[in-house]
Amino acid sequence: MFYLEHIKDVARKVGFDLCGVTECRRLEDDAHFLRQWIAEGNATSLAYLARNEEVRADASRLVEGARSVIVCAAAYRRQRYADDCCTKIASYACAADYHSVMRDMLHALCRAAGLADGQVRYRVFTDSAPIFEKRYAVEAGLGWIGRHSLLITPDYGSYVVLGEIVTDAVFDRYDTPLTAGTCGVCRRCVEACPNQAIAERHIDTRRCISCATIEHKSELRTPLHGWIFGCDECQNACPYNHSCGEYANSRLSPLFSPHALDTASWLAMSKADFDAQLRTTPLLRSGLERIKENIVLSELDD
Ligand code: SF4
Ligand code: SF4
Repeated sequence: MFYLEHIKDVARKVGFDLCGVTECRRLEDDAHFLRQWIAEGNATSLAYLARNEEVRADASRLVEGARSVIVCAAAYRRQRYADDCCTKIASYACAADYHSVMRDMLHALCRAAGLADGQVRYRVFTDSAPIFEKRYAVEAGLGWIGRHSLLITPDYGSYVVLGEIVTDAVFDRYDTPLTAGTCGVCRRCVEACPNQAIAERHIDTRRCISCATIEHKSELRTPLHGWIFGCDECQNACPYNHSCGEYANSRLSPLFSPHALDTASWLAMSKADFDAQLRTTPLLRSGLERIKENIVLSELDD
């Protein structure tokens, strides 16, 4: 038997800002939503979402006999840009790649909390695994899903990254979803999205700049509005991100200032310079050439 308060305490010591635990159960509504969303042709370059569809909604398929999902979050610092900036980079991409940061922290949590001593089965996941991580975060009481489809946490807003531990360990008690917190009548993210990509808790990936700059082939033209990697417009518009403070988990502190790199510096950057300065950031995912392409495409928007 593991104890809820103990794992939360250890998670804080390991460096997570939030931790909750929910029972491992199949998320029927989400499975239905994903099937419909894919059938409507929304996945486009995110076609991988259609694979392992059943597993995504049922974390118990990832670990034999799984009983619990531990969901952890770390908050990162928001970047602010002038409206006419044409080299905007999503805030999370200015820090170390959260996949490796979160994976290391999740393994550290498993060791410190006694999950790794051979008595229980567990696996850690962060973003890349076929799991509905935002829904499990809601079930674990970390926050709720906003109209922009992202998790909103009461203390840190939506500028958080998530990681999960799926385990057959049983806890003395479990968290429950928050009872307060909704979008209400607010539609600021919907109105702020420069490409009108947001419907009701649903993103049209064909229009989304974040997908366009990272996932899509560059010939699939979508106006980029000065974003060259990712896009924070919907998050920037959200009042919950204004009412919380500026947070940066020390493990996710920015590694470079995006304001120090203008169009000319990006276009003149060599592969060696990119590797030396930025290879530990998520920018490696698209690579320097794609960033340069996005700058050129962004200029063509005008
Ligand atoms: S990331 Fe940008 S383009 Fe995508 S939905 Fe949000 S505001 Fe719209
Ligand atoms: S901007 Fe408004 S509608 Fe959008 S997620 Fe935030 S609270 Fe919800």
